[in-house]
Amino acid sequence: MRIREAQGMMRAIYYHKDSRRGAKRTWEWLLEEVRELGDALQSGDERALASEFADVLAWLASLANVVGVDLEEAFLTKYPGRCPKCGRAVCACPT
Ligand SMILES: [Zn+2]
Repeated sequence: MRIREAQGMMRAIYYHKDSRRGAKRTWEWLLEEVRELGDALQSGDERALASEFADVLAWLASLANVVGVDLEEAFLTKYPGRCPKCGRAVCACPT
């Protein structure tokens, strides 16, 4: 599945709710899911970790749908197979 397909799937399932909720409250849900991802990282529960990664991606896609951003286009524009800072295929930026 491509990023665009995942975003389209989220649009089909949730856009009628996401659009009513609006960008600010959808962003707040995304923040909550990011926090839960952090909790899952701390817990060491691998099933919870995978579930929270899925939730973060789902809410990111929902937020992109609400504000009209094509996630795949945005991602590939910024990360076209190389580091956007040093321009190399394998990042050589100082850490
Ligand atoms: Zn780099």
